[in-house]
Amino acid sequence: MSLHSEQSHQLPSSVTVLGLGPMGRALASAFLDGGLRTTVWNRTPGRDRELVERGAVSAPSAEEAVAVSELIVVCVVNYDAADAILRREAVTTALKGRTVVNLTADTPGRARDTATWAAEHGVRYLDGAIMTPATTIGTPAAVFIHSGPEELYREHRPVIEKLGGTHTHLGEDIGRAAAYDIALLDIFWTAMAGYAHALAVAKAEGVTAGELAPFAQGIAAILPPLFEEFAGDVDSGSYSGEINPITSAASSMAHIIHASEAHGIDAGVMRVVEGWARRVIARGHGTDGFVRVTELLGR
Ligand code: NDP
Repeated sequence: MSLHSEQSHQLPSSVTVLGLGPMGRALASAFLDGGLRTTVWNRTPGRDRELVERGAVSAPSAEEAVAVSELIVVCVVNYDAADAILRREAVTTALKGRTVVNLTADTPGRARDTATWAAEHGVRYLDGAIMTPATTIGTPAAVFIHSGPEELYREHRPVIEKLGGTHTHLGEDIGRAAAYDIALLDIFWTAMAGYAHALAVAKAEGVTAGELAPFAQGIAAILPPLFEEFAGDVDSGSYSGEINPITSAASSMAHIIHASEAHGIDAGVMRVVEGWARRVIARGHGTDGFVRVTELLGR
């Protein structure tokens, strides 16, 4: 379908997707499934082939993609890339009066900076983040978080919800979705670093990843209830270590360091974490629980 043959038939239920990496393609695909007139654009041409076969409109330029929809969803690698697209004069001009939902991941500061730029150029702006893989988009498993003007969010919610899953508006502070995203990805990547490191140590001891897997899942399953319990501790400032004091945690971390280094495996991450625990103990909080380090780091 060509852009120009359709351009005059603007429907209210239309959407433009800028950025066709795995996530952008999944978003556009879900919009198509939802029956929306979906216009797509990507810096590198050719990534829209399957989408076009399914009825998407391929725009020859970002400005033309922007001009045909009231709602523009951006999903590229980071805000440098989003800026490279949105802040080109022809695109900025075409965006005036339209709404951008930026589902690109980056920092809260970049989200706030983009909101300032948007306000200066008459662009209505919502920020958001996607907390699940591209394969979940369009299914009940997808998780989206949003922030920015609530009225604007409500206005576009019917289209946004075509992406499936759950959508949570976290507040008017435009940086809030990115703040959640960073905190949640901090958990994810730190856990993944621990997992990769654990596999290296296990392998050095003759244990395969497959042999460890069921036990690794068991360890991961311990975490969700602990997250809930410790959230109460951190929010109230009481860090009870009755069941597992930080002195015991530090000792267990030292074993991991020694076992790793005995095999010549870098234990730098665990050394840093053990260092935090030792500092908490040195400050007289050895009977507190491990999450007391939150207060140490926050200082
Ligand atoms: P990538 O993060 O690899 O981003 C690829 C997209 O960014 C392509 O459209 C690429 O265009 C574009 N891009 C990169 N640099 C530029 C630039 N300078 N100017 C214009 N466009 C540029 O792929 P994803 O689609 O997977 O991710 C998109 C966003 O979604 C990211 O912020 C990611 O963190 C987030 N996300 C992704 C998930 C996933 O499962 N994939 C899960 C949750 C969030 P080109 O094709 O021309 O290179």
